[in-house]
Amino acid sequence: MSHISDTLHDPKPPRHGEPPLVVAPESRLFATRAARFRELEERLPDMAAFLAFNAHLARAQHRVLKERDVEPFDAQSFDMALAHDFPPLTPTSLLASVTWQADLKALLEALDRTLADKSEAFAAQRELLSALGGFEPATLDKIAQSVLSQPSVPAEYRGVAPLIGAALQIAWTRLSQSLKPLPHRPQGAAQGLCPCCGSPPVASTVQLGRHRSRVRYLVCGLCSTQWYLERARCSHCFDTEKLDYIGVEGPDGKRALPVRAESCGGCRASVKLMDREWEADTDPFADDIATLGLDMLLEEQGYARAGFNPLLAFGSDEG
Ligand SMILES: [Zn+2]
Ligand SMILES: [Zn+2]
Repeated sequence: MSHISDTLHDPKPPRHGEPPLVVAPESRLFATRAARFRELEERLPDMAAFLAFNAHLARAQHRVLKERDVEPFDAQSFDMALAHDFPPLTPTSLLASVTWQADLKALLEALDRTLADKSEAFAAQRELLSALGGFEPATLDKIAQSVLSQPSVPAEYRGVAPLIGAALQIAWTRLSQSLKPLPHRPQGAAQGLCPCCGSPPVASTVQLGRHRSRVRYLVCGLCSTQWYLERARCSHCFDTEKLDYIGVEGPDGKRALPVRAESCGGCRASVKLMDREWEADTDPFADDIATLGLDMLLEEQGYARAGFNPLLAFGSDEG
């Protein structure tokens, strides 16, 4: 374990012509994530089977996002929300009208085709897929609501919840990719929530590249939109005074992955920070899943996980 301050220079908010304050989800984000899961699978043999399944899941998400034709929303219906700086794509208002259940069906089919070639290795997961295929639409909606209102998913749905989460990600990524113009950077109490869909971030990333070098963005857990937040600021209560950066080291004393938890002594929330200067291909979702050990450490230290990752289902055993 290590405690390191985030002492690097904190870039000022970008000005005109400088890094964008809000960045739409990239078109190949699920394919890129699948490649990262593959790489992590090789590096972390203890978690290899779990990471391999997630690689197949991300690959299937990519296929469905690319191949399924969807009638676009009437962009004007979002004008009112955009004009008032409200996130236009909140799942509470759109869950009934977005065809996410068709994304789920396409996802289950794509994933089942892939896993069928892998013989016995994914027998348990294939059973889950087939069980989920038989759920009633009303039940699926209920599980979706529970996934979206994390942190706790009832025990009976915890097995299938990540698949529902993956389908919701496809639907909301597509929606946010279609938003033009993009919303403004959120302000005040909303600056920790996605400007497109109002969901909490999965994590934040310190970016690379000529225009975004060392600039920190929060990444939406649902739609993967990125938005700017100053470094060394709690993304939950926005305090700058009581932050600690907690990481985990491997047996050789080196940090295994480019992940630290930005942990706030004020509000006790902790959100992971992935640093692309350390590893350019780190992915907030894949690296979050690969560092679940860090979450246990944080819990022991009295921090509450504030990152929202619909590919993980947490819950107390009471359900
Ligand atoms: Zn979002
Ligand atoms: Zn805080």
